[in-house]
Amino acid sequence: AWLLHYLPGEEAVFSFLLFHVYLADLAENSLLNKLIRKSLVESSHRVEVLQRDPSSPLFSVKTFEELHLKEELLRGVYAMGFNRPSKIQETALPMMVAHPPQNLIAQSQSGTGKTAAFVLAMLSRVNAAVKYPQCLCLAPTFELALQTGRVVEQMGKFCADVKVSYAVRGNKVPRGAVIKEQIVIGTPGTTLDWCFKLRLMDLKKISVFVLDEADVMINTQGFSDQSIRVQRALSQDCQMLLFSATFEDAVWQFAERIVPDPNVIKLRREELTLNNIRQYYFLCENNSEKYKALCNVYGSITVGQAIVFCQTRRNAKWLSLQMIRDGHQVAMLSGELTVEQRAAVIQRFRDGKEKVLITTNVCARGIDVIQVTIVVNFNLPTNQLQHPDFETYLHRIGRAGRFGKKGLAFNMIERYNLSLLHRIEEHFQTKIKKLDPDDMDELE
Ligand code: ADP
Repeated sequence: AWLLHYLPGEEAVFSFLLFHVYLADLAENSLLNKLIRKSLVESSHRVEVLQRDPSSPLFSVKTFEELHLKEELLRGVYAMGFNRPSKIQETALPMMVAHPPQNLIAQSQSGTGKTAAFVLAMLSRVNAAVKYPQCLCLAPTFELALQTGRVVEQMGKFCADVKVSYAVRGNKVPRGAVIKEQIVIGTPGTTLDWCFKLRLMDLKKISVFVLDEADVMINTQGFSDQSIRVQRALSQDCQMLLFSATFEDAVWQFAERIVPDPNVIKLRREELTLNNIRQYYFLCENNSEKYKALCNVYGSITVGQAIVFCQTRRNAKWLSLQMIRDGHQVAMLSGELTVEQRAAVIQRFRDGKEKVLITTNVCARGIDVIQVTIVVNFNLPTNQLQHPDFETYLHRIGRAGRFGKKGLAFNMIERYNLSLLHRIEEHFQTKIKKLDPDDMDELE
């Protein structure tokens, strides 16, 4: 409900609804992915670059040394365990630390090193000797701002006297005070308050402006306008950097309003495919039969780790109780859990503490770091019109066979849902083979 705080009058109720529909999903997923991410996401695609001045040479670096960073910053980078720049950093970093500064719009999926890149850019420009905000980063939520701040603190841990301040709800600064920290990370509303209402900082003195998670921002009522108001008040020679995991037209239009004369860098995400996945189905009349089929799978092959998708929370609970009763170690992601609790569940699963993860679609959407060899659809994904949800099917199953590894997918289907299955086969031009629960020899 904190969003109400930013928006006066009648807009408030409306934006409260939007908050639930959009921000809760997008920003939470983003946070969850950050919390459970331990390493870089690889991409086999090439980085696409669109230079503002195509005649200027395009630099890319293979080492951090080539960037000629301050010694204490380089130490911070290595202390984080970074040996060399990620794919996107190879091209983005030289632009970001260049003299004179260049503006940049960069898009690549989460986990490819964007945050580390702009944190490094901010730290490279900061003058620790002067005590006022010089770098400003806008983020969609309090929690995401804190995550970015942690990276600043880690990477900047040898940069003595460089400090971070958070312009987020609840961080009360008395009127008349001034912000001495060189780097400010905040949400758009509170940042506006800090700059214009409370006059805690001077936007004209900002030399690096970062707008992170632009795709999440634009889906949050009021944030685009507030961000643009901040941007308008910056000085002409402030460096503007914008990052996004996705890039629909709306994000692009917003990006161009925030970042004048930009260089553009894009790294396409690895496409999901069903090529490496063997897909099967069981005909089942009810949940008990579905559960029996699942047990047969367990009885006939050596299962590594599996994710089971259920349509409803109730189904997911029922199934996990059955499995626990039969001695399986089961983890469950459910809607009641906070993001931190969900991150902990996923972490335990990844550490192999449980072999099965049961989840509803809502919980698992957008988490792209769980890798398993088996995916079970206890229910097929459908949309509100009860049509098959192809995209979700692909997302669920596609994760079973990442990076060239083979995966198995099992669909538990009621007879009346067979047509859904056939439409999925048709859509993906793929074959989903029938299995008889009592004769699993077919399988291998
Ligand atoms: P994004 O902002 O695109 O989601 P991050 O900057 O958060 O990506 O990076 C994802 C993960 O990879 C983080 O755990 C981060 O510490 C790590 N990382 C970032 N850059 C490098 C690098 N050059 N070498 C090794 N790990 C890196």
